[in-house]
Amino acid sequence: MIRIAIDGPGGAGKSTISKAVAQKLGIVYVDTGALYRTIGLYVKSVGVDPKDREGVSRCLDDIKIELKYENGKQCVYLNGTDHGDAIRTPEMSMYASAVSAIPEVRAFLLDTQRDIAKKNSVIMDGRDIGTVILPNADVKIFLTASEECRAKRRYDELIAKGRDVKYEDVLSEMNQRDKQDSSREVAPATAAADAVLLDNTGLSFDESVEAVISLARKTGLI
Ligand code: C5P
Repeated sequence: MIRIAIDGPGGAGKSTISKAVAQKLGIVYVDTGALYRTIGLYVKSVGVDPKDREGVSRCLDDIKIELKYENGKQCVYLNGTDHGDAIRTPEMSMYASAVSAIPEVRAFLLDTQRDIAKKNSVIMDGRDIGTVILPNADVKIFLTASEECRAKRRYDELIAKGRDVKYEDVLSEMNQRDKQDSSREVAPATAAADAVLLDNTGLSFDESVEAVISLARKTGLI
């Protein structure tokens, strides 16, 4: 068993790199951001302000979240329905960031995340994996890159998906979200004291994947 925790700001490549590492090592990739995005989607659907702590907390009574793997792909079921890419819009990024600052939401999602890592070798990405969710992870990485590089990657990703976005808007939304995520009171997005800082600004995608795999190999667990 190996547990790899990857935290870091938006656009650092956490999810694409983690996915590739999971495939190469034959372990499970857990995208924890999808869980917060799904709560955001529900909150929007019932017209609750994502910053309203009481309103969002009340919503949790009506939410059942299940994490399933279908053909190696993670699916998040919200009350029995997988909403697919509807959770991936820039609007849902902001909703996720707002609801994720609410302690009740974080507590609500804790067991779902820990349970999967109890039963499987995982590479899990998020903001508080090394600090809160898996404090005993075998490998902890804080993945980052320069602001311009991260915004450009996010922009390219959205354009490739056919979305009509401007680079300046992507940059400012990314910065706003990162600021919100790293300055909140509960589980702020910070590197664990024992995390390895991996700045992949000058690295290609394959080099980034290799850097993570080589840190994993050093544990002797794979
Ligand atoms: O990683 P992703 O961009 O999908 O995450 C969406 C939002 O969910 C983040 O901006 C952050 O506010 C929140 N999040 C979190 N803790 C995690 C993963 C995501 O607070 N472990």
